[in-house]
Amino acid sequence: MSEKTLFERIIDREIPADIVHEDEICLAFKDIAPQAPFHILIIPKKPIPRLGEAGNEDQSALGHLLLTARSIASDLGLSDKEKGFRIVINNGNDGGETVPHLHVHLIGGRALNWPPG
Ligand code: 5GP
Repeated sequence: MSEKTLFERIIDREIPADIVHEDEICLAFKDIAPQAPFHILIIPKKPIPRLGEAGNEDQSALGHLLLTARSIASDLGLSDKEKGFRIVINNGNDGGETVPHLHVHLIGGRALNWPPG
């Protein structure tokens, strides 16, 4: 049996995290090294390593991650056009992925630069 990833250990409460949302499909918690005043990670409970390895059967879970991000952004007061937020999914080495469990970054609370580095 393969070793659990860091995020599976957070799902299983083996590692503490500041959890802001949980349901049967996903968990959302504050990033330990926030890049903005608000930085939340939304992850599926299913251990999909990265978006590039998601399958058609994951369609509803993937949609759920984005809709959950939308709801959290709304709760944080970021939904208005005057505020705003960014959704990021890093995939693989060139994409900057460091944890091999699919995660959606929700980042907001300050003006963000574009393009990314
Ligand atoms: P990635 O670079 O893979 O897209 O994002 C991984 C994210 O996980 C990083 O933003 C990093 O700060 C965050 N992270 C790494 N270890 C932990 C941890 O133990 N707890 C929490 N809450 N976030 C973590």
